[in-house]
Amino acid sequence: MALMTGEQYVESMRKMKLNVYMFGKKIENPVDDPVLRPSLNSVKATYDLAQMPEYEDLMTVTLEDGRKVNRFTNIHRNTDDLIKKVKMQRLCGQKTAACFQRCVGMDAFNAEWSTTYEIDKKYGTNYHENFKKFVRMVQDEDLTVDGAMTDPKGDRGLAPHAQADPDLYLHVVERREDGVVVRGAKAHQTGIINSQEVIVMPTIAMGPDDKDYAISFAVPTDAEGITMIIGRQSCDTRKLEGSQMDVGNSEFGGVEALVVFDNVFVPNDRIFLNGENEFAGMLVERFAGYHRQSYGGCKVGVGDVLIGAAALAADYNGAQKASHVKDKLIEMTHLNETLYCCGIACSAEGRPTESGNYLIDLLLANVCKQNVTRFPYEIARLAEDIAGGLMVTAPSEKDLRDPVVGPYVEKYFRGVASVSTENRLRCLRLIENLTLGTAAVGYRTESMHGAGSPQAQRIMISRQGNIAMKKELAKAIAKISE
Ligand code: SF4
Ligand code: FE
Repeated sequence: MALMTGEQYVESMRKMKLNVYMFGKKIENPVDDPVLRPSLNSVKATYDLAQMPEYEDLMTVTLEDGRKVNRFTNIHRNTDDLIKKVKMQRLCGQKTAACFQRCVGMDAFNAEWSTTYEIDKKYGTNYHENFKKFVRMVQDEDLTVDGAMTDPKGDRGLAPHAQADPDLYLHVVERREDGVVVRGAKAHQTGIINSQEVIVMPTIAMGPDDKDYAISFAVPTDAEGITMIIGRQSCDTRKLEGSQMDVGNSEFGGVEALVVFDNVFVPNDRIFLNGENEFAGMLVERFAGYHRQSYGGCKVGVGDVLIGAAALAADYNGAQKASHVKDKLIEMTHLNETLYCCGIACSAEGRPTESGNYLIDLLLANVCKQNVTRFPYEIARLAEDIAGGLMVTAPSEKDLRDPVVGPYVEKYFRGVASVSTENRLRCLRLIENLTLGTAAVGYRTESMHGAGSPQAQRIMISRQGNIAMKKELAKAIAKISE
Protein backbone atom coordinates (compact mmCIF):
# COMPACT_ATOMS: atom_id res chain seq x y z
CA MET A 1 0.00 0.00 0.00
CA ALA A 2 1.18 3.52 -0.77
CA LEU A 3 0.99 6.49 1.59
CA MET A 4 -2.31 6.67 3.46
CA THR A 5 -4.48 9.75 3.22
CA GLY A 6 -5.60 11.36 6.47
CA GLU A 7 -9.05 9.85 6.03
CA GLN A 8 -7.65 6.39 5.42
CA TYR A 9 -5.60 6.74 8.59
CA VAL A 10 -8.71 7.68 10.59
CA GLU A 11 -10.55 4.70 9.16
CA SER A 12 -7.65 2.41 10.03
CA MET A 13 -7.82 3.63 13.64
CA ARG A 14 -11.55 3.04 13.66
CA LYS A 15 -10.90 -0.65 12.96
CA MET A 16 -8.60 -1.05 15.98
CA LYS A 17 -10.10 -2.65 19.06
CA LEU A 18 -8.33 -0.50 21.63
CA ASN A 19 -9.01 -0.92 25.31
CA VAL A 20 -9.19 2.73 26.43
CA TYR A 21 -10.46 4.13 29.75
CA MET A 22 -11.12 7.73 30.66
CA PHE A 23 -12.98 9.36 33.55
CA GLY A 24 -13.68 5.89 34.97
CA LYS A 25 -15.39 4.58 31.85
CA LYS A 26 -14.40 2.40 28.92
CA ILE A 27 -14.36 4.49 25.74
CA GLU A 28 -15.97 2.33 23.07
CA ASN A 29 -15.20 4.69 20.20
CA PRO A 30 -12.03 6.70 20.93
CA VAL A 31 -11.87 8.00 17.33
CA ASP A 32 -15.03 10.06 17.71
CA ASP A 33 -14.70 10.95 21.38
CA PRO A 34 -14.73 14.77 21.71
CA VAL A 35 -11.99 14.81 24.35
CA LEU A 36 -9.72 12.48 22.37
CA ARG A 37 -10.46 13.47 18.78
CA PRO A 38 -8.14 16.52 18.65
CA SER A 39 -5.20 14.25 19.44
CA LEU A 40 -6.14 11.95 16.57
CA ASN A 41 -6.40 15.00 14.31
CA SER A 42 -2.80 15.92 15.14
CA VAL A 43 -1.56 12.55 13.90
CA LYS A 44 -3.89 12.81 10.91
CA ALA A 45 -2.06 16.03 10.02
CA THR A 46 1.13 14.01 9.47
CA TYR A 47 -0.76 12.08 6.76
CA ASP A 48 -2.55 15.12 5.29
CA LEU A 49 0.63 17.17 5.00
CA ALA A 50 2.39 14.25 3.26
CA GLN A 51 -0.24 14.44 0.51
CA MET A 52 0.46 18.09 -0.23
CA PRO A 53 2.92 18.72 -3.10
CA GLU A 54 4.47 21.74 -1.37
CA TYR A 55 5.51 19.61 1.62
CA GLU A 56 6.44 16.44 -0.26
CA ASP A 57 10.18 16.97 0.17
CA LEU A 58 9.91 17.37 3.95
CA MET A 59 7.11 14.92 4.68
CA THR A 60 8.10 12.00 2.47
CA VAL A 61 11.22 10.07 1.52
CA THR A 62 11.84 8.14 -1.67
CA LEU A 63 14.00 5.18 -0.72
CA GLU A 64 16.76 3.61 -2.80
CA ASP A 65 14.40 0.81 -3.87
CA GLY A 66 11.92 3.36 -5.20
CA ARG A 67 9.37 3.13 -2.41
CA LYS A 68 7.96 6.46 -1.25
CA VAL A 69 7.35 6.48 2.51
CA ASN A 70 6.25 9.00 5.09
CA ARG A 71 9.32 10.56 6.70
CA PHE A 72 7.94 9.55 10.11
CA THR A 73 8.77 5.95 9.13
CA ASN A 74 12.21 6.68 7.70
CA ILE A 75 15.54 5.21 8.75
CA HIS A 76 17.88 8.21 8.49
CA ARG A 77 20.40 7.64 5.71
CA ASN A 78 22.48 10.82 6.01
CA THR A 79 22.63 14.17 7.77
CA ASP A 80 20.22 15.62 5.22
CA ASP A 81 17.58 13.16 6.48
CA LEU A 82 18.29 14.24 10.07
CA ILE A 83 17.95 17.93 9.18
CA LYS A 84 14.77 17.38 7.21
CA LYS A 85 13.33 15.47 10.12
CA VAL A 86 13.66 18.56 12.34
CA LYS A 87 12.24 20.82 9.63
CA MET A 88 9.29 18.47 9.19
CA GLN A 89 8.64 18.56 12.93
CA ARG A 90 8.72 22.35 12.98
CA LEU A 91 6.21 22.38 10.13
CA CYS A 92 3.90 19.93 11.93
CA GLY A 93 4.16 22.00 15.14
CA GLN A 94 3.22 25.13 13.19
CA LYS A 95 0.20 23.45 11.64
CA THR A 96 -1.14 21.81 14.81
CA ALA A 97 0.19 23.83 17.78
CA ALA A 98 0.17 20.46 19.52
CA CYS A 99 2.08 17.21 19.91
CA PHE A 100 1.56 15.22 16.70
CA GLN A 101 2.88 12.09 18.39
CA ARG A 102 4.37 10.25 15.47
CA CYS A 103 7.99 11.16 16.25
CA VAL A 104 8.41 8.66 19.06
CA GLY A 105 7.93 5.82 16.60
CA MET A 106 10.46 7.34 14.19
CA ASP A 107 12.94 7.82 17.03
CA ALA A 108 12.41 4.28 18.30
CA PHE A 109 12.89 3.02 14.74
CA ASN A 110 16.29 4.59 14.38
CA ALA A 111 17.50 3.64 17.86
CA GLU A 112 16.39 0.02 17.36
CA TRP A 113 17.86 -0.15 13.86
CA SER A 114 21.42 0.46 15.01
CA THR A 115 21.16 -1.25 18.41
CA THR A 116 19.71 -4.51 17.07
CA TYR A 117 22.53 -4.59 14.50
CA GLU A 118 25.14 -4.31 17.23
CA ILE A 119 23.49 -6.92 19.47
CA ASP A 120 23.36 -9.40 16.59
CA LYS A 121 27.01 -8.74 15.84
CA LYS A 122 27.97 -9.64 19.38
CA TYR A 123 25.57 -12.51 20.05
CA GLY A 124 24.56 -13.86 16.62
CA THR A 125 20.92 -13.16 17.45
CA ASN A 126 18.30 -12.34 14.82
CA TYR A 127 16.93 -9.06 16.17
CA HIS A 128 18.02 -6.84 13.30
CA GLU A 129 16.26 -9.03 10.73
CA ASN A 130 13.16 -9.07 12.95
CA PHE A 131 13.30 -5.33 13.16
CA LYS A 132 13.87 -4.82 9.45
CA LYS A 133 10.76 -6.90 8.74
CA PHE A 134 8.77 -4.78 11.17
CA VAL A 135 10.02 -1.52 9.64
CA ARG A 136 9.17 -2.73 6.16
CA MET A 137 5.60 -3.48 7.24
CA VAL A 138 5.20 -0.11 8.97
CA GLN A 139 6.56 1.75 5.93
CA ASP A 140 4.49 -0.16 3.41
CA GLU A 141 1.28 0.16 5.41
CA ASP A 142 2.13 3.75 6.47
CA LEU A 143 1.37 3.03 10.12
CA THR A 144 1.76 5.18 13.21
CA VAL A 145 3.91 3.60 15.89
CA ASP A 146 4.19 4.59 19.53
CA GLY A 147 7.66 4.32 21.07
CA ALA A 148 7.09 3.36 24.71
CA MET A 149 10.00 3.79 27.07
CA THR A 150 9.10 5.27 30.47
CA ASP A 151 8.29 2.69 33.14
CA PRO A 152 6.46 3.79 36.32
CA LYS A 153 9.81 3.19 38.12
CA GLY A 154 8.47 2.93 41.69
CA ASP A 155 11.30 3.61 44.14
CA ARG A 156 13.87 5.57 42.12
CA GLY A 157 16.61 4.39 44.49
CA LEU A 158 16.15 0.72 43.56
CA ALA A 159 17.04 -1.29 40.44
CA PRO A 160 14.17 -2.89 38.49
CA HIS A 161 14.61 -6.36 40.03
CA ALA A 162 14.80 -4.91 43.57
CA GLN A 163 11.43 -3.10 43.51
CA ALA A 164 8.80 -4.12 46.09
CA ASP A 165 6.45 -4.73 43.16
CA PRO A 166 8.32 -6.46 40.31
CA ASP A 167 5.91 -5.01 37.71
CA LEU A 168 7.01 -1.41 38.24
CA TYR A 169 9.38 -2.02 35.35
CA LEU A 170 8.02 -3.98 32.42
CA HIS A 171 9.50 -7.47 32.34
CA VAL A 172 9.28 -11.00 30.97
CA VAL A 173 7.12 -13.22 33.17
CA GLU A 174 7.10 -16.32 30.99
CA ARG A 175 9.41 -17.70 28.32
CA ARG A 176 7.81 -19.94 25.74
CA GLU A 177 9.01 -21.76 22.64
CA ASP A 178 7.17 -19.30 20.40
CA GLY A 179 7.83 -16.07 22.31
CA VAL A 180 7.59 -14.34 25.68
CA VAL A 181 4.84 -13.05 27.95
CA VAL A 182 5.41 -9.60 29.47
CA ARG A 183 3.89 -7.64 32.33
CA GLY A 184 4.30 -4.05 33.48
CA ALA A 185 3.32 -0.60 32.26
CA LYS A 186 4.57 2.42 30.35
CA ALA A 187 3.62 5.87 31.60
CA HIS A 188 3.05 9.23 29.84
CA GLN A 189 2.41 7.59 26.48
CA THR A 190 1.65 10.36 24.03
CA GLY A 191 0.04 8.96 20.94
CA ILE A 192 -0.57 5.40 22.07
CA ILE A 193 -4.31 5.68 21.40
CA ASN A 194 -3.61 6.96 17.89
CA SER A 195 -1.05 4.30 16.93
CA GLN A 196 -1.60 0.92 15.32
CA GLU A 197 1.62 -0.49 16.77
CA VAL A 198 3.80 0.11 19.82
CA ILE A 199 7.54 -0.47 20.19
CA VAL A 200 8.42 -1.15 23.82
CA MET A 201 11.93 -0.37 25.07
CA PRO A 202 13.62 -0.53 28.46
CA THR A 203 13.81 2.76 30.32
CA ILE A 204 17.29 2.65 31.92
CA ALA A 205 20.65 0.94 31.60
CA MET A 206 20.46 -2.47 33.26
CA GLY A 207 22.72 -4.87 35.14
CA PRO A 208 22.91 -8.68 34.98
CA ASP A 209 20.21 -9.03 37.67
CA ASP A 210 17.78 -7.16 35.44
CA LYS A 211 17.94 -9.53 32.45
CA ASP A 212 14.18 -10.12 32.49
CA TYR A 213 13.69 -6.36 32.27
CA ALA A 214 16.04 -5.95 29.30
CA ILE A 215 13.30 -6.60 26.78
CA SER A 216 12.26 -4.77 23.64
CA PHE A 217 9.55 -5.71 21.17
CA ALA A 218 6.63 -4.49 19.08
CA VAL A 219 2.97 -5.47 19.32
CA PRO A 220 -0.26 -4.08 17.87
CA THR A 221 -1.83 -1.57 20.24
CA ASP A 222 -4.96 -3.70 20.48
CA ALA A 223 -3.07 -6.85 21.49
CA GLU A 224 -4.77 -8.86 24.23
CA GLY A 225 -3.80 -7.65 27.71
CA ILE A 226 -3.16 -3.99 26.83
CA THR A 227 -5.18 -1.33 28.67
CA MET A 228 -4.79 2.45 28.21
CA ILE A 229 -5.85 4.87 30.94
CA ILE A 230 -6.03 8.47 29.70
CA GLY A 231 -4.38 11.18 31.80
CA ARG A 232 -6.23 14.32 32.88
CA GLN A 233 -5.23 17.63 31.38
CA SER A 234 -5.95 21.10 32.64
CA CYS A 235 -9.24 22.31 31.05
CA ASP A 236 -9.83 18.94 29.31
CA THR A 237 -13.61 18.95 29.85
CA ARG A 238 -13.97 22.29 28.09
CA LYS A 239 -13.94 20.13 24.98
CA LEU A 240 -17.30 18.71 26.11
CA GLU A 241 -18.98 22.11 26.38
CA GLY A 242 -19.47 22.60 22.66
CA SER A 243 -17.56 25.89 22.50
CA GLN A 244 -14.97 26.10 19.77
CA MET A 245 -13.74 29.44 21.11
CA ASP A 246 -13.19 28.50 24.75
CA VAL A 247 -10.86 25.58 23.99
CA GLY A 248 -8.39 27.83 22.16
CA ASN A 249 -7.30 25.12 19.72
CA SER A 250 -10.45 23.27 18.74
CA GLU A 251 -9.00 21.04 16.07
CA PHE A 252 -5.70 19.73 17.40
CA GLY A 253 -4.26 18.47 20.68
CA GLY A 254 -2.47 15.61 22.34
CA VAL A 255 -3.33 13.20 25.14
CA GLU A 256 -1.23 10.88 27.23
CA ALA A 257 -2.00 7.52 28.76
CA LEU A 258 -0.75 4.96 31.20
CA VAL A 259 -0.44 1.77 29.16
CA VAL A 260 -0.74 -1.45 31.12
CA PHE A 261 0.66 -4.68 29.69
CA ASP A 262 -1.05 -7.42 31.65
CA ASN A 263 0.47 -10.69 30.47
CA VAL A 264 0.85 -9.69 26.83
CA PHE A 265 2.23 -12.34 24.49
CA VAL A 266 5.04 -11.32 22.13
CA PRO A 267 5.94 -13.73 19.29
CA ASN A 268 9.66 -14.39 18.65
CA ASP A 269 9.81 -12.44 15.40
CA ARG A 270 8.60 -9.29 17.17
CA ILE A 271 11.41 -9.34 19.77
CA PHE A 272 14.38 -6.93 19.37
CA LEU A 273 16.19 -7.37 22.71
CA ASN A 274 15.77 -10.17 25.18
CA GLY A 275 18.15 -10.39 28.10
CA GLU A 276 21.25 -8.79 26.55
CA ASN A 277 21.16 -6.31 29.41
CA GLU A 278 24.30 -4.37 28.46
CA PHE A 279 22.52 -3.11 25.33
CA ALA A 280 19.58 -1.62 27.24
CA GLY A 281 21.63 1.51 27.96
CA MET A 282 22.58 1.92 24.29
CA LEU A 283 18.96 1.72 23.22
CA VAL A 284 17.88 4.24 25.87
CA GLU A 285 20.70 6.65 25.04
CA ARG A 286 20.03 6.57 21.31
CA PHE A 287 16.25 6.82 21.57
CA ALA A 288 16.55 9.67 24.07
CA GLY A 289 19.15 11.36 21.85
CA TYR A 290 16.87 11.26 18.81
CA HIS A 291 13.92 12.48 20.84
CA ARG A 292 15.97 15.33 22.32
CA GLN A 293 16.75 16.33 18.73
CA SER A 294 13.02 16.09 17.93
CA TYR A 295 12.15 18.78 20.45
CA GLY A 296 14.36 21.20 18.52
CA GLY A 297 11.72 20.90 15.79
CA CYS A 298 8.29 20.31 17.31
CA LYS A 299 8.53 22.74 20.23
CA VAL A 300 9.90 25.39 17.86
CA GLY A 301 6.89 24.99 15.57
CA VAL A 302 4.49 25.33 18.51
CA GLY A 303 6.59 28.29 19.70
CA ASP A 304 6.05 29.93 16.30
CA VAL A 305 2.29 29.77 16.87
CA LEU A 306 2.62 31.16 20.40
CA ILE A 307 4.83 34.03 19.25
CA GLY A 308 2.32 34.77 16.49
CA ALA A 309 -0.55 34.74 18.98
CA ALA A 310 1.32 37.10 21.32
CA ALA A 311 2.05 39.50 18.45
CA LEU A 312 -1.61 39.34 17.43
CA ALA A 313 -2.72 40.03 21.00
CA ALA A 314 -0.47 43.09 21.02
CA ASP A 315 -2.04 44.28 17.75
CA TYR A 316 -5.54 43.77 19.14
CA ASN A 317 -4.58 45.72 22.28
CA GLY A 318 -3.16 48.54 20.18
CA ALA A 319 0.20 47.96 21.87
CA GLN A 320 2.17 46.71 18.87
CA LYS A 321 4.25 49.86 18.60
CA ALA A 322 5.38 49.89 22.24
CA SER A 323 9.14 49.33 22.32
CA HIS A 324 8.97 46.85 25.21
CA VAL A 325 6.42 44.75 23.30
CA LYS A 326 8.64 44.72 20.23
CA ASP A 327 11.58 43.75 22.42
CA LYS A 328 9.65 40.91 24.03
CA LEU A 329 8.75 39.52 20.62
CA ILE A 330 12.43 39.74 19.66
CA GLU A 331 13.38 37.87 22.82
CA MET A 332 10.77 35.16 22.17
CA THR A 333 12.03 34.78 18.62
CA HIS A 334 15.63 34.65 19.79
CA LEU A 335 14.84 31.88 22.29
CA ASN A 336 12.77 29.90 19.83
CA GLU A 337 15.36 30.10 17.06
CA THR A 338 18.08 29.11 19.52
CA LEU A 339 16.20 25.85 20.05
CA TYR A 340 15.97 25.40 16.31
CA CYS A 341 19.72 26.03 15.95
CA CYS A 342 20.34 23.20 18.40
CA GLY A 343 17.98 20.85 16.53
CA ILE A 344 19.68 21.61 13.23
CA ALA A 345 23.20 21.53 14.66
CA CYS A 346 22.91 18.10 16.28
CA SER A 347 21.52 16.84 12.97
CA ALA A 348 24.20 18.41 10.79
CA GLU A 349 26.86 16.89 13.06
CA GLY A 350 25.28 13.42 12.80
CA ARG A 351 27.42 10.35 12.10
CA PRO A 352 26.71 6.88 10.69
CA THR A 353 26.33 4.02 13.15
CA GLU A 354 27.78 0.56 12.48
CA SER A 355 24.48 -0.44 10.89
CA GLY A 356 24.69 2.49 8.48
CA ASN A 357 21.81 4.66 9.69
CA TYR A 358 22.63 8.10 11.04
CA LEU A 359 22.75 9.12 14.68
CA ILE A 360 22.64 12.73 15.83
CA ASP A 361 25.53 14.29 17.72
CA LEU A 362 24.59 13.24 21.24
CA LEU A 363 26.22 16.17 23.05
CA LEU A 364 24.43 18.73 20.91
CA ALA A 365 21.11 16.86 21.10
CA ASN A 366 21.34 16.92 24.88
CA VAL A 367 22.19 20.63 24.85
CA CYS A 368 19.12 21.07 22.62
CA LYS A 369 16.82 19.37 25.09
CA GLN A 370 18.39 21.10 28.10
CA ASN A 371 17.48 24.42 26.48
CA VAL A 372 13.99 23.08 25.79
CA THR A 373 13.56 22.54 29.54
CA ARG A 374 13.90 26.34 29.94
CA PHE A 375 13.12 28.44 26.87
CA PRO A 376 9.47 27.49 26.25
CA TYR A 377 8.76 28.56 29.85
CA GLU A 378 10.29 31.95 29.18
CA ILE A 379 8.49 32.25 25.84
CA ALA A 380 5.23 31.37 27.64
CA ARG A 381 5.98 33.96 30.36
CA LEU A 382 6.54 36.66 27.77
CA ALA A 383 3.38 35.65 25.88
CA GLU A 384 1.38 36.00 29.11
CA ASP A 385 3.06 39.34 29.75
CA ILE A 386 2.02 40.67 26.34
CA ALA A 387 -1.47 39.08 26.45
CA GLY A 388 -2.49 40.73 29.73
CA GLY A 389 -4.74 39.47 32.51
CA LEU A 390 -7.81 39.15 30.32
CA MET A 391 -6.33 35.87 29.11
CA VAL A 392 -7.42 34.30 32.40
CA THR A 393 -10.40 36.45 33.41
CA ALA A 394 -12.40 36.64 30.18
CA PRO A 395 -15.95 35.27 30.35
CA SER A 396 -17.02 32.25 28.33
CA GLU A 397 -18.26 32.12 24.76
CA LYS A 398 -21.76 31.50 26.15
CA ASP A 399 -21.59 34.87 27.91
CA LEU A 400 -20.46 36.54 24.73
CA ARG A 401 -23.47 35.05 22.91
CA ASP A 402 -25.95 35.73 25.74
CA PRO A 403 -28.66 38.27 24.83
CA VAL A 404 -28.48 39.94 28.24
CA VAL A 405 -24.75 40.09 29.15
CA GLY A 406 -23.32 39.50 25.66
CA PRO A 407 -23.50 43.20 24.71
CA TYR A 408 -21.52 44.08 27.87
CA VAL A 409 -18.83 41.52 27.05
CA GLU A 410 -18.74 42.79 23.48
CA LYS A 411 -18.47 46.42 24.60
CA TYR A 412 -16.03 46.19 27.48
CA PHE A 413 -13.62 43.61 26.14
CA ARG A 414 -13.01 45.28 22.83
CA GLY A 415 -9.43 46.46 22.31
CA VAL A 416 -8.77 48.43 19.12
CA ALA A 417 -12.07 49.42 17.53
CA SER A 418 -11.35 47.71 14.21
CA VAL A 419 -11.03 44.22 15.72
CA SER A 420 -14.04 42.29 17.00
CA THR A 421 -14.17 41.31 20.64
CA GLU A 422 -14.67 37.74 19.50
CA ASN A 423 -11.37 37.69 17.59
CA ARG A 424 -9.56 39.25 20.51
CA LEU A 425 -10.93 36.60 22.85
CA ARG A 426 -10.13 33.79 20.40
CA CYS A 427 -6.51 34.90 20.34
CA LEU A 428 -6.30 35.07 24.14
CA ARG A 429 -7.87 31.61 24.46
CA LEU A 430 -5.19 30.20 22.18
CA ILE A 431 -2.48 31.69 24.40
CA GLU A 432 -4.29 30.31 27.43
CA ASN A 433 -4.50 26.88 25.79
CA LEU A 434 -0.75 26.83 25.10
CA THR A 435 0.40 28.24 28.42
CA LEU A 436 -2.16 26.95 30.94
CA GLY A 437 -4.63 24.68 29.17
CA THR A 438 -4.54 21.28 27.52
CA ALA A 439 -1.62 22.19 25.24
CA ALA A 440 0.52 23.32 28.17
CA VAL A 441 1.04 19.61 28.86
CA GLY A 442 2.98 19.40 25.61
CA TYR A 443 4.49 22.86 25.48
CA ARG A 444 5.55 23.28 29.10
CA THR A 445 5.73 20.19 31.31
CA GLU A 446 6.65 17.90 28.45
CA SER A 447 9.39 20.36 27.53
CA MET A 448 10.68 19.82 31.04
CA HIS A 449 10.32 16.06 31.41
CA GLY A 450 9.65 14.59 27.96
CA ALA A 451 12.61 12.70 26.45
CA GLY A 452 14.14 12.75 29.93
CA SER A 453 14.13 15.30 32.76
CA PRO A 454 16.81 18.03 32.87
CA GLN A 455 19.19 16.02 35.05
CA ALA A 456 19.29 13.21 32.49
CA GLN A 457 20.65 15.65 29.92
CA ARG A 458 23.17 17.05 32.38
CA ILE A 459 24.56 13.56 32.93
CA MET A 460 24.95 13.11 29.18
CA ILE A 461 26.48 16.57 28.81
CA SER A 462 29.00 15.76 31.53
CA ARG A 463 29.86 12.46 29.81
CA GLN A 464 30.23 13.98 26.36
CA GLY A 465 31.68 17.37 27.25
CA ASN A 466 35.31 16.19 27.12
CA ILE A 467 36.68 18.41 29.88
CA ALA A 468 40.03 16.57 29.78
CA MET A 469 40.62 17.70 26.18
CA LYS A 470 39.67 21.26 27.15
CA LYS A 471 42.19 21.25 30.00
CA GLU A 472 44.87 20.29 27.51
CA LEU A 473 43.87 23.23 25.31
CA ALA A 474 44.23 25.59 28.25
CA LYS A 475 47.60 24.13 29.20
CA ALA A 476 48.90 24.54 25.65
CA ILE A 477 47.90 28.21 25.50
CA ALA A 478 49.23 28.98 28.97
CA LYS A 479 52.47 27.08 28.25
CA ILE A 480 51.93 24.81 31.23
CA SER A 481 54.03 21.67 31.24
CA GLU A 482 53.39 19.13 33.98
FE1 SF4 B 1 6.88 14.58 18.43
FE2 SF4 B 1 7.27 16.65 19.96
FE3 SF4 B 1 5.18 15.08 20.41
FE4 SF4 B 1 7.62 14.21 20.99
S1 SF4 B 1 6.57 15.95 21.93
S2 SF4 B 1 6.04 13.09 19.86
S3 SF4 B 1 8.82 15.17 19.39
S4 SF4 B 1 5.52 16.33 18.63
FE1 FE C 1 7.62 13.75 23.77
